[in-house]
Amino acid sequence: MSNVTALRTIRIAERPNLIWLEVETDDGLLGLGESFRGAQAVEAVLHEQVAPWLIGRDARHIAAVSRHLMNPYLGYNSASAEIRAASAVDIALWDLAGQRQGVPVYIALGGGVRERIPVYNTCAGYAFNSGAQRRIVEGREAAAGPYDDQVAFMHDAGALAESLLSENYGAMKIWPFDGYAAASGGNTISLADLKAGLEPFRKIRAAVGDRIEVMCELHSLWGTHAAARICQALEDYGVYWIEDPLFKMDDAGALQDLRRQTRAPICGSETLADARTFRKLLAADAVDVVMLDLAWCGGFSEARKIAALAEMHGKPLAPHDCTGPIALMAGLHLALNAPTAIFQEVVRATLATWYRDLVDGLPVIECGQALAPVGPGLGSRLRPEVRLRADATVRESGRPR
Ligand SMILES: [Mg+2]
Repeated sequence: MSNVTALRTIRIAERPNLIWLEVETDDGLLGLGESFRGAQAVEAVLHEQVAPWLIGRDARHIAAVSRHLMNPYLGYNSASAEIRAASAVDIALWDLAGQRQGVPVYIALGGGVRERIPVYNTCAGYAFNSGAQRRIVEGREAAAGPYDDQVAFMHDAGALAESLLSENYGAMKIWPFDGYAAASGGNTISLADLKAGLEPFRKIRAAVGDRIEVMCELHSLWGTHAAARICQALEDYGVYWIEDPLFKMDDAGALQDLRRQTRAPICGSETLADARTFRKLLAADAVDVVMLDLAWCGGFSEARKIAALAEMHGKPLAPHDCTGPIALMAGLHLALNAPTAIFQEVVRATLATWYRDLVDGLPVIECGQALAPVGPGLGSRLRPEVRLRADATVRESGRPR
């Protein structure tokens, strides 16, 4: 047996979107999960709804736990607080499964299709997603450090591409159109704004030619007319994908309409949860590349179903980062196991700084590829000092050790 004895959540005021979940079992193991956004709501779901049901149950039966937690009465179509809580639980249970077997999670999932996966750098800098609001760079904002890639792509995208190539990154993701969405609520984009948004792509191609792949992130800020205009304008720059172009990325009809209007490949979406939502998009031929976030979609149990759907439809898969270190580790394990995975997202600024202050294991990147983790489970633990921080909120249910 490996019965759950306690749940512990930890969050820190410095990164208010992040929440970690530690699951303790009576065989002395500790599993780690994570989710992101609405951390206090996720914490409440975990302690008030999940803990009374989960404590005392056998942590080995992940399929049963996933089936129960992924079917709340409300909130399962997308990454609701309930599904984010379920995601954290599932990641922690797979961490436990790997530890119990003495193997990395991707081995516990059935092993690797590959032993390394290419990464791309999301040019987020140090703090794009850390605060209550996503950071928008406008004007001549000063760089916060050498890896403030969000300032770099807005002002000197060519030099940024050269910097990334010098570190062997073969692909980069940028979002120069975000600042122009507010003017119309995303319903339209002017020609002047369109041309300004294209500048970083022009500079990248002028500086490094076709030596780097470039993805454009649209962050679900646009309606179909504006999104089509942006996608059509980007066709000349050979973008690898355009991500989350529309307001609602579960809208298969609107995505089909957009795909009919552009040659640029469409990627979606980390915002979605539940394999059924992905099934509808794939059945409707609404996306070219499947993006998913392990800490939002339902964890490994749901992600492997989404990966299977991507495989059945012949679509490439690309796990998300730009939230927290455990979602990244989980994404990497899935990317090693999933047959059609092509990339794992990383943010070099956070990998080099605050991710490593929080956890003791992160992807090892060599020649633009993340190597397979070697330790048991996820291969990463929350550093013990995190829960002792002055800005930490720690809440426990059950009988913690
Ligand atoms: Mg994204």
